[in-house]
Amino acid sequence: QQAQLNQARKMEAVGALASGVAHDFNNVLQAISAYVELLQTSHDLQSESKDTLAKMDQVIERAAQLVRHLLSFGREDEVETQRLDLNRIILQVADILRHTLPKMIEIETDLSQTPPIIQGEPSRLEQVLMNLGINAKDAMPEGGTLSLSTSLASLGETHLALNPKARPGDHIKLTVSDTGTGMDEMTKEHLFEPFFTTKKPGQGTGLGMATVYGIVNSLNGHIVFESALGKGTTFDIYFPVKKQKQADIPMKTSTPNMQAT
Ligand code: ADP
Repeated sequence: QQAQLNQARKMEAVGALASGVAHDFNNVLQAISAYVELLQTSHDLQSESKDTLAKMDQVIERAAQLVRHLLSFGREDEVETQRLDLNRIILQVADILRHTLPKMIEIETDLSQTPPIIQGEPSRLEQVLMNLGINAKDAMPEGGTLSLSTSLASLGETHLALNPKARPGDHIKLTVSDTGTGMDEMTKEHLFEPFFTTKKPGQGTGLGMATVYGIVNSLNGHIVFESALGKGTTFDIYFPVKKQKQADIPMKTSTPNMQAT
């Protein structure tokens, strides 16, 4: 537990650093991109140079993607959030995964009866699920089962101690588990660090789990995991329940906007 607490502190520092570096780097990328565009519009280009410029464009786009990952890692607080039903997002992502992952990977869902309403941003939560789903796929080269589930849970004191942002009270638990290779101790220790990867160059960026961590943290959520070599990995992510507030209840009749003048 102490290790996870240290991890949380370390990630906060890494997040701040990452977003600072990403921001500066993004400015540089935009300048390069503008120069490439300028060259592409010039008329006396040989077709070979045109090809090279097109390739440069692709590489710049890839770099920009990496930077976007890093930016979102540190700057989640600035993302606009809304009340949403996590089950609906899971169903959407499960559908995408069923169509894109190899057939030998079975995808199961077990969703809570009560709609799990949390405060979040749909595309970022989709990203969390996709990143976890793709890692699960990579961990099951011979096939296996990926399960996605939601349930209501309350955070115990140990969990609260782990996350300085977590508040006592009801939480939604999102569980993503696989029957894959599991992780060794070294991987577990560095799992959430940006650029940590055990995959071959070109197959992994090492940003997937760092992004998951950043998004969950920004939503005042909290993530724990268990992993056993040869057995598989389970991630439990806790989000605070979004209570229905007066302002969130849609009005049935339209009332004129009354403002004191
Ligand atoms: P990437 O997938 O690009 O390597 P991530 O940050 O998503 O980067 O993951 C970091 C590392 O954590 C992976 O390279 C892999 O070794 C390990 N990992 C992540 N998820 C799982 C999983 N479900 N099962 C086994 N290992 C995993």
